[in-house]
Amino acid sequence: MPDIDSTENYICKQCRVICRLKDGAWVHPEPWATLKARQVCAHPAPLRPAKPREMQSGSMPLFKRDKIMREEQLRNLVVDHGSAIEVATVGCYQKHLTARAHPRGWGYLASNGHYGFGATTTQICFDGPGELAAEARALFWAIRKLVPLYRITLLTDYPQIANMVEAWRSGDHSAMPPGYDMTPGKSGYERKLVLAARKVHEHTDSVAVRLVDDYADTALGRGANELSIIGWKCSAREITKSEAEVQALTAASAALGVEPVLVTRDGQVDNAGEDNE
Ligand SMILES: [Zn+2]
Repeated sequence: MPDIDSTENYICKQCRVICRLKDGAWVHPEPWATLKARQVCAHPAPLRPAKPREMQSGSMPLFKRDKIMREEQLRNLVVDHGSAIEVATVGCYQKHLTARAHPRGWGYLASNGHYGFGATTTQICFDGPGELAAEARALFWAIRKLVPLYRITLLTDYPQIANMVEAWRSGDHSAMPPGYDMTPGKSGYERKLVLAARKVHEHTDSVAVRLVDDYADTALGRGANELSIIGWKCSAREITKSEAEVQALTAASAALGVEPVLVTRDGQVDNAGEDNE
């Protein structure tokens, strides 16, 4: 329990929405008590003081963005919300010869021009499920960006990923990679795959999954693979962030056979309260 200052706003440890002490009891005050974007709990309790940005949005982000990541959309492939699209997700996990941390690169590429790449790092080299973890990261970011805006078919060559998504669709939220910790972190962030599982189950009809023999069988898979390698290289500091952005645009547009022109950022509406950089 933090030292309580009754004039201050806190993040609620139950629902991560702003709460404060009022007449000796913890409450979710307005306007946040009726925050549309989030579920607000009935029994608030303080986790920690709220940051200025959280006081503006009314809650803390559900999850943390990766230190290295970028998401864009190619302009010439934009389709209406609700359209059926395909998206390939690929992870890249290799030992790095000189860096102390070993990046897990991820990439996704969708037929409507949405693409993303990024990386997380681990100190452990070749811990077995590391490759699966990289694939799962690609899956998380693709789901977060595209569901429920579109009806998506996920392309993966990982049977574990395909089985996991099918389990989520049928309501089994406990299907996770081996050893995956599902309890929220001390910082209050939800685990990414727990969020993904919930979202897939909520929007079962918007998500299908197709297991392919090899990611290289499809243009989307080949593009997503290139993106995951770009994420890996950027995390390993073999290329800079701006080089990575240029390479990603080239890779995504070449894979989809369109001009390398992006949807401008002003036109993109992101879900509130999830940016954390
Ligand atoms: Zn609460």
